[in-house]
Amino acid sequence: MKIVIVGAGISGLTAANTLRKSNKDVIVLEKEEKVGGRAKLETKDGFVLDTSAQFIFGDFYNFFDLAKEVKLNKNIIPTSNNIAFYRNKKFHVLNLLGLIKFGTLKEKYKILKLLNILRKNNKIFSYTDLHKSREFDSEVFSEWITHHFGISILEYFVQPIVSSLCLTHPEKLSTSYGLTLLNSSLRKEIYAISNGIGSISEKLKNNIGKKYIKTSSDVKKIEIDENKVNGVELEDKFIDSSCIISSLPLPILSKIAKLPKEMKEIIEKIDYSPCIHLWICLREPVWKESMAILFPRIEWKDHIAIIETSMKSRTHVPPGKGMIEVFIFENHAKQLLEMSDEKIKEKILDDLSNFFANIKNKVLWYKILKIKYGMPIYKPGYYELTKKLNKKFVDGLFLCGDYMAMPSLETAVWSGKNVAESIIRGDKK
Ligand SMILES: Cc1cc2nc3c(=O)[nH]c(=O)nc-3n(C[C@H](O)[C@H](O)[C@H](O)COP(=O)(O)OP(=O)(O)OC[C@H]3O[C@@H](n4cnc5c(N)ncnc54)[C@H](O)[C@@H]3O)c2cc1C
Repeated sequence: MKIVIVGAGISGLTAANTLRKSNKDVIVLEKEEKVGGRAKLETKDGFVLDTSAQFIFGDFYNFFDLAKEVKLNKNIIPTSNNIAFYRNKKFHVLNLLGLIKFGTLKEKYKILKLLNILRKNNKIFSYTDLHKSREFDSEVFSEWITHHFGISILEYFVQPIVSSLCLTHPEKLSTSYGLTLLNSSLRKEIYAISNGIGSISEKLKNNIGKKYIKTSSDVKKIEIDENKVNGVELEDKFIDSSCIISSLPLPILSKIAKLPKEMKEIIEKIDYSPCIHLWICLREPVWKESMAILFPRIEWKDHIAIIETSMKSRTHVPPGKGMIEVFIFENHAKQLLEMSDEKIKEKILDDLSNFFANIKNKVLWYKILKIKYGMPIYKPGYYELTKKLNKKFVDGLFLCGDYMAMPSLETAVWSGKNVAESIIRGDKK
């Protein structure tokens, strides 16, 4: 039986890798020329571009295991976890010294209290074992933070950190996900991959074997008949299969497969946040104090976060040069998605000139990625939604992807491995 995997993002590649280790007959179909999806490897003129995914946190256990398996663990390097916040027209770098200067005495006390709550609950925060933090899952994150710590902690501290990690606002998020993200980013080591996060996708491709992966293969339809999968339709051929793994973002799956009503209704409850990811390569760095620069929505009308990539790792940027990555999300991204790349670049550079004088004169080149389905939004009650998604609605159709638990590379890896193992075990349907 040939197993067809639709999509070669991290989840689809992990599924294929696990199935190949059991000698299963697999074919991975990927629409783009390159594998990796939202974790692709791109390089240009000595710069390494992490397309979409940026960081690995210390609690990404499945990801670390996979990196070891594909011999990439030595390339996983701790990165500077200094964050700068823009407040009152100044940048405040949040290291120990910065915390002394950050905000009022009351705010400093509240931040320490929040860190203490995270420390005490450390064991329940897991990207994949959602059961552990279920007591927080019915709560809206912004309301929980405001109730316990007040509005200024939400606006100046929590919102900029969490929004930059999950590309949406805390009003839309479940408290369990918000706290898990805070716990990872404030209390754990943050890692980058020295030769780019996408290098794990390339390593997986080699592990699986190139002949099992067909790139530039746009799947037009997953054929379902009488609640059973029959195969997939490409531009020029049909591949028969009674076992298909979809690793597609849910709205794409819903578009190319005639799914049962009950399954469609669950999928429609899961929204995605769009994102614009812009790289600006520079003659020299513009900022030498911290890697991530966060703009609270209350201080700066548009939703942006910036990474100074020359501080992410020594190998991402050629010596002496600079690169910043800008992330724009939610409504601001929706507006920009309609604009040409040149217009987006001009607008962002105009914005950035407010903070970094002369930046326009330092630009070598830029690149823009418009991502319609940036991140699934993990809203309150998501735990129950994932339980329903795990039900088998269609005979022979299996799901994996970052929406199967808390959206992250960790969940993508975990869900790919899970789905493959359930097929190997021969779980019903
Ligand atoms: C800007 C940004 C920053 C992020 N930063 C982080 C981070 O720092 N840390 C972290 O853990 N996570 C991060 N993420 C999330 C992370 O990138 C994703 O969770 C993960 O890469 C998703 O993997 P996936 O396999 O589920 O989906 P995808 O990577 O989306 O894979 C789906 C694949 O299906 C392919 N496809 C689509 N349609 C078709 C079709 N019709 N036929 C065939 N193939 C098709 C796509 O091309 C793609 O390759 C970030 C995401 C974004 C957008």
